[in-house]
Amino acid sequence: ALELRSVSKKFGDFTAVDGISLTVEPGEFVTFLGPSGSGKTTTLNCIAGFEEVTDGEVMLGGKPLTHTPIHKRNIGMVFQGYALFPHMTVEKNVAYPLKQRKLPKEEIREATDFALEKVGLTDFRHRLPVQLSGGQRQRVALARAICFRPPLLLMDEPLSALDKALREQLQQEIRSLHRDLGTTVVFVTHDQDEALALSDRIVVFNQGVVQQIGTPRDLYQNPANAFVSGFVGESV
Ligand code: ATP
Repeated sequence: ALELRSVSKKFGDFTAVDGISLTVEPGEFVTFLGPSGSGKTTTLNCIAGFEEVTDGEVMLGGKPLTHTPIHKRNIGMVFQGYALFPHMTVEKNVAYPLKQRKLPKEEIREATDFALEKVGLTDFRHRLPVQLSGGQRQRVALARAICFRPPLLLMDEPLSALDKALREQLQQEIRSLHRDLGTTVVFVTHDQDEALALSDRIVVFNQGVVQQIGTPRDLYQNPANAFVSGFVGESV
């Protein structure tokens, strides 16, 4: 399980994340939902290791992550932009984290093939990112995040740059990939519909504080406060 114990993050005097505690069970799909600036990305970055927590502890599989460097956390990450290397082919982009891990050539080839097949891009392996559509680029980013079969996959607004139809298609693909791989997913979005469509459970953020954690049905039927009913209700 992934466990946050009273995690806080301050930037100077400003508290971006204020004492967040939550547990994500293995294989669960959990979404951080909240308005812009509510601390979702900062919390995700504390899990990934891009930010150090000011207070509290992030635990993965019962062990604290605090002193584990990013590349040893074995966490897959899909960023808000696609963050692909523009000068590398699709195949090289996907293989990058495997090369970083200094895996043998044969294993790199196998893992890259596996990931490209999972996202349906086998035939595009020799293209450059600039020769791909937005949806295809996001699939490359997804393949790169899953190629080393991380037990935990973090996704920060991966679909926000796509149009509605493509977003809905990719949501389905992410959902079936999650089911297929059995990976634990933490997904960040400010889009209520997206959160309701994808998640086993939703964590509602406002001003760095968790307002409620529950299934889509819980939030809809028993909102904890006016913020949750207003924010989640907007979509209905
Ligand atoms: P968005 O959906 O807009 O990305 P968010 O919910 O992910 O919003 P965060 O990016 O976590 O919110 O930001 C939370 C707050 O922390 C914001 O007020 C932001 O300005 C502030 N913040 C984030 N990073 C820094 C930083 N490096 N230095 C100072 N303040 C920061």
